[in-house]
Amino acid sequence: TTKTFHSLRPPAPLPPPSQPLSITDYTLSLLQSNPTSSPNTDFLIDSTTGHRLSYSDFIRQTHSLTASLATILPPHGNNQVALIISPTSFHIPVLYFSLLALGITISPVNPVSTKSELTDLIRISNPVIAFATSAVSSKLPSSFPLGTIIIDSPEFVSMLQNSSSDVIHRKVNQSDTAAILYSSGTTGRIKGVELTHRNFIAITSNSHYNRFVRDEKASPEPQSVWLFPLPLFHVFGFFMIIRATSFGATLVLMEKFEFNNALKAVEKYKVTYMPVSPPLVVAMAKSDLVPKYDLSSIRMIACGGAPLGKEVAKSFSVRFPQVDIVQGFGMTETGGAVTGMSNPDECEHYGSAGRLSCNVEAKIVDPETSEALSPMQQGELWLRGPMIMKGYVGDKEATAAAMDTEGWLKTGDLCYFDYDGFLFVVDRLKELIKYKAYQVPPAELERYLQSIPEVVDAAVIPYPDEDAGQIPMAYVVRKPGSKISEAQIMEIIAKQVSPYKKIRKVAFINAIPKTPAGKILRRELVKHALSGASSK
Ligand code: AMP
Repeated sequence: TTKTFHSLRPPAPLPPPSQPLSITDYTLSLLQSNPTSSPNTDFLIDSTTGHRLSYSDFIRQTHSLTASLATILPPHGNNQVALIISPTSFHIPVLYFSLLALGITISPVNPVSTKSELTDLIRISNPVIAFATSAVSSKLPSSFPLGTIIIDSPEFVSMLQNSSSDVIHRKVNQSDTAAILYSSGTTGRIKGVELTHRNFIAITSNSHYNRFVRDEKASPEPQSVWLFPLPLFHVFGFFMIIRATSFGATLVLMEKFEFNNALKAVEKYKVTYMPVSPPLVVAMAKSDLVPKYDLSSIRMIACGGAPLGKEVAKSFSVRFPQVDIVQGFGMTETGGAVTGMSNPDECEHYGSAGRLSCNVEAKIVDPETSEALSPMQQGELWLRGPMIMKGYVGDKEATAAAMDTEGWLKTGDLCYFDYDGFLFVVDRLKELIKYKAYQVPPAELERYLQSIPEVVDAAVIPYPDEDAGQIPMAYVVRKPGSKISEAQIMEIIAKQVSPYKKIRKVAFINAIPKTPAGKILRRELVKHALSGASSK
């Protein structure tokens, strides 16, 4: 139709879909074809200990681990799932690339997950094996057919140093599932997003071939050094690891994000690039710690995962005039960023989430009539392209609700395009709450609230917060005569969920507003909360 928006970028090359190719082989071939990459370059630097891993050691470890794991993981096991639960460490990128080279589906989860959260995730992805650090392995609720491998054990380290091993090669089709990542999508319930090798090849090809151009005539940038505060289990972190590897960049990993340490690391390692989520941009725009460090090496930040306010972006630019802010829109379901900015002029469109990346098509659809709309008209953003997920694993119904038969993914985000093809995200139509760019599925918190004996009914909504973007707020209907307090309710929930999912505000109400079909009218509650009318 004429109302489809197309990318304005030059196309990025893609291998023929029928060619067997894993995302590991694809990424390493891009790395090896890069004339400026050298085996002695550092791939990873640990910002806490200063330890380094060069590209040549990384490749050696990956080949060695692949060979070691091949003895445990039977051939023809493509699409079998490995659960990975670990804080950020050098071993994680090596483990990802090795499992992917063997055709095993990786399913990384947040290491702060509680036992009951893990039970839900395991039910969805059905792993045959788990990889966990010793500190978190005790949280795993069950055993796995092929066991649990402890990542910080001497056995694992010896698997990385199996120097006698040959390079193992197993056939991986691009249509094989590379990863199952978790997202609640447009509803409040958690689901497993199935992303194929082809999806990651498409997203990597985009970001690899359409590099940011600051000055056509300038010489190529010297080795870029990235500060990497993103969690590796989230699509943004996972995609950025692949992207960095394809470029031969150096990653300064932070196991635990702490603002002061991040600034210290920028100064010490002369960081040039930072993929971040909005709270970090807010902190850099405002914090008194910033002038204490030499941050002049930073050239660019890439911000995504949640909306970045126009005013924040502007005040950041006043403080860091030499830094380009590249904004991108992405979802777990799109395997990474599907919009971006590719030169300094585009970056000055503060408040925009960028232009469509190559091979991405979009529509803006009226949520009531399903009619495709024109530039400057607001509607739901629909996306199509080779990076869009296969579906929600084992959930045909949810997949059919999220994707139509022509391959359009319904994002649940209220957006518009301007006449120059810049995307603006206005609001979220879906139920998802984002606390510091982390997903908080409201239905999950509602389930925990409803299991409190003194609670009759409950609904969870996003409440705006300057630093976190949004905080989860609960509206609770108490049993007649109950004196349970806001603080008691927050404490009961906090014991059962990951820290980022905590309910941070509670209000009592006589009844939860619902449609005749029983669906919670969240928008009414949001209006109620914002009007400050919430009764005590
Ligand atoms: P996730 O699957 O955790 O990456 O969450 C995807 C959702 O994050 C999107 O559907 C949006 O609601 C939100 N999001 C991601 N990037 C942006 C952005 N640049 N601006 C506004 N919202 C964003």
